[in-house]
Amino acid sequence: MKKYLHLLLYIHLTASLSACQPHLPVKQSTSTNKHTMSDKQAYYSRTDTSQLVLKDEEWKKILPDDLYQIARHANTERAFTGKYWDYEGLGTYYCAACGNALFKSDSKFASGCGWPSFYESIRPTSVKYHEDKSYGMIRVEVVCGRCDSHLGHIFDDGPPPTGKRFCMNSISLDFEGDEEKAPTGNAK
Ligand SMILES: [Zn+2]
Repeated sequence: MKKYLHLLLYIHLTASLSACQPHLPVKQSTSTNKHTMSDKQAYYSRTDTSQLVLKDEEWKKILPDDLYQIARHANTERAFTGKYWDYEGLGTYYCAACGNALFKSDSKFASGCGWPSFYESIRPTSVKYHEDKSYGMIRVEVVCGRCDSHLGHIFDDGPPPTGKRFCMNSISLDFEGDEEKAPTGNAK
């Protein structure tokens, strides 16, 4: 009987964790996740919005392995393991591969799915959409509008005003807090 209950619990957990996306193990980078602009490769820019097209071997050379696997091969980090799924800092989320501005923290919401979730992108052109038929499902993949790196998927079960849920990988995102951008000193 106990064994049966365990099995039921296992099925329940597996089903709820699979709700967002199939998740494959992603080797987490051992380096610190706190990036500074000087850590970034030469193509990274938070001001250049022109298209960035690089060959796969170039991406492999310049990105950490965990980001490369997600950004360029549509892998998915495990739910509840990323650095931003329950993060509540105020600021802006950028593409970790190229620096393109993607989401503001005020569009982030607690979806409970284990991945950072937003109801809208900063600009309509911040992201692009592709139909994704992998894993026997039909979903809409979200990629970076500048460099085409995989970010996650979008679903129709988000909150108002858009009703959308951008279900993103933490590894694909770089966060910069508003206070980090503010001029020195408090303007009060
Ligand atoms: Zn990008």
